[in-house]
Amino acid sequence: MIERIRNAFENYQQEMLDDLAALVAIDSSGAGPVKEGMPFGEGPAKALDCFLKIAERMGLETDNVDNYAGVVSYGDGEETVGVLAHLDVVPAGKGWTTDPFKMVIKDGKMYGRGVIDDKGSAVAALYGLRIIRDLGIPLKRGLRLVVGTNEELGSACMEYYVAHREPPTLGFTPDASYPLIHGEKGSFWAKLFFDKEDLPILKMEAGEVFNAVPAECTVLLDGSVDIDALKASADKGFSEGYPVTIEKTADGNISMLVKGKAAHGSMPYLGVNAIVSAAMILCDALGEKAGKLLHFAKDVIGRDPNGKTAGVYFKDDNGELTLNLGLLRFENGEGWLGTDIRFPVTGTGAYATGLYQAMADKYGIRAEIPTPSEPHFVPEDSELVTTLLKVYREVTGEQDAKSVTIGGGTYARHVGKKFVAFGPEFNDTDYHMHNADEFYPLDEYMKHCVICTMGMLELAK
Ligand SMILES: [Zn+2]
Repeated sequence: MIERIRNAFENYQQEMLDDLAALVAIDSSGAGPVKEGMPFGEGPAKALDCFLKIAERMGLETDNVDNYAGVVSYGDGEETVGVLAHLDVVPAGKGWTTDPFKMVIKDGKMYGRGVIDDKGSAVAALYGLRIIRDLGIPLKRGLRLVVGTNEELGSACMEYYVAHREPPTLGFTPDASYPLIHGEKGSFWAKLFFDKEDLPILKMEAGEVFNAVPAECTVLLDGSVDIDALKASADKGFSEGYPVTIEKTADGNISMLVKGKAAHGSMPYLGVNAIVSAAMILCDALGEKAGKLLHFAKDVIGRDPNGKTAGVYFKDDNGELTLNLGLLRFENGEGWLGTDIRFPVTGTGAYATGLYQAMADKYGIRAEIPTPSEPHFVPEDSELVTTLLKVYREVTGEQDAKSVTIGGGTYARHVGKKFVAFGPEFNDTDYHMHNADEFYPLDEYMKHCVICTMGMLELAK
């Protein structure tokens, strides 16, 4: 069967690449104004229309869900198998060496916005549906290819779809990576507010988002601070080799810039947090006068990426809680810290936020904790995971391939409990997703087409 599907894709290759190029040519970044009947603007609606027309040309049944999402169907059954892909993209941005909206193939690689995220996967699944129909294999479950148009800006497309149509029973989203992701941690972004204190620190600022390790912290101190003592503290290695710049300002104050290393908030252990570096330097130089916020950043959060010293840590067989200190704002004696917490897939939001609240209570800090995003988890021994993993192993020959859990969230969590992420990225290649020169090697794309189609077929037959 793998060979038959591979041959079918080879026969369709040129037609499939032409269809993908037509979709790439539409800027569906959702940056345009919202119009009547186009909830995410013109681009996403145009891409959806183009996609459904391709499906109709193939003689497949289509359903446009009010320009939020589209469904292409083949086969019926009490249960259905869903493949979830999306047709919106992130804005092209700068730095491309090719036209982002003109797909080209260079050195065996397809270049263009959306070739891997996620237009390539949408087209692959569409051709897979066509090939399964043409093979005429009887199916127990119907197949539903669901394409959204707002994944990059919050997945409101899937919320609308689930509210207006019967979602598939189980399935996968080819919008992450292989071999398979069967669990996504729960998460929440909480703020910690510190009472006003009289400190020689006029202003501090670091970070732009909760979910990144800040690579810069700026501090403004008043002129009463001993600049030589501050420089001596900065020389003690607290910043782990990243530069610290201390200068007198024109109006007699002191500015300090502490650098660190950025990383994604789900993997804080890959970065060097500039807030923590700055806190260590200032606490060393100023002692008690550094204030409660900085002592908290240094002693309670510190360099521990798992919240152990803060007392919010727990783990399960799939992984550990992570805590990232992403934001710091301080002015006029008061300020707050912003943290990103990702908790294990078998944990609950109530438990994780309870630990967080207890930490805030223990240190007498006011915490602002939003409703957490619960983990998404499909057991490894479920039909869904075992079937797809078997397909992956058979097509690639990687017999020891295993499924994993991750700290980030995928499209899978938006449709139902029985969904996992499956492809399309192979190995650790940087495909420049969301960046300039997004690419997908053609041979990997063809392999992905076969895996995706086999996955659909094995779950449906
Ligand atoms: Zn995507």
